[in-house]
Amino acid sequence: NGFIKLGLAPELIAAVEDLGFTQPTTVQEQVIPRAMTASGGADGATRFVDLMVSSQTGSGKTAAFLLPVLHTLLQRQAEAEAASKAEFQRLAAEAAARGEAPPKKPKRKDPTNSRHFKAATPGALILCPTRELAQQVAHDAIDLVKHCRGLRIANVVGGMPYQLQIAKLQNADLVVATPGRLLDLQRSMQIKLDQVKFLVVDEADRMLDLGFSDDLAEVNQLTIERQQTMMFSATFAPRIQQLAQRVMREPQRVTI
Ligand code: AMP
Repeated sequence: NGFIKLGLAPELIAAVEDLGFTQPTTVQEQVIPRAMTASGGADGATRFVDLMVSSQTGSGKTAAFLLPVLHTLLQRQAEAEAASKAEFQRLAAEAAARGEAPPKKPKRKDPTNSRHFKAATPGALILCPTRELAQQVAHDAIDLVKHCRGLRIANVVGGMPYQLQIAKLQNADLVVATPGRLLDLQRSMQIKLDQVKFLVVDEADRMLDLGFSDDLAEVNQLTIERQQTMMFSATFAPRIQQLAQRVMREPQRVTI
């Protein structure tokens, strides 16, 4: 399978195989390895390369941004699990040295119990201009995480019942959203965006056509600590370049 050489996690390769993809498309070949390249920022914090990609619908652009984001989320999840396992073992060893029973593992919280409610804090955010596109992207993401234990996808779009979205949003690692509903949920404190490490703006040109410029600026501010931004657009018109200037750091251009 041609995806193996791109360096993706085995869980993601398995999902791609299930979908019947044998070779990456041009945009996938160009974007995936670049997007997964870490680069230490000037402040020593981990960063990934920002990318500005021109690509049409049908080019395979959705998997081109979903796969590297999911790959990096998987890596972070594995690191967090290893750290919490090490911490548990340390506490168990300390307890044993004192002749006590090992500590109990914390119980998983029940998200449907309102006493356990806390705002969702996704690690990755994909913004789409329309509800239909956001639903399609979320659907593709769900296909791609089929073999990933514990990576959760949520869809946040207008026109759907709030309660249902909020319940699904709890514990989401990746949120696919239209800007209006996302900011509604942010203002009502159902979701916090300060843990977002990866931001993707899909169909940036349509986003501006539909008047989401101010919303994008707001999301940019709310996720200012992020490690990577990718913007996909059919064109690189001057207004798209201005937007890129505002939301990205030294973006690399990928023209397909
Ligand atoms: P997109 O440009 O993201 O809308 O993708 C267009 C269509 O191509 C979707 O139906 C994908 O499922 C499909 N697709 C994406 N990547 C590949 C691939 N590497 N091989 C075959 N089909 C693909």
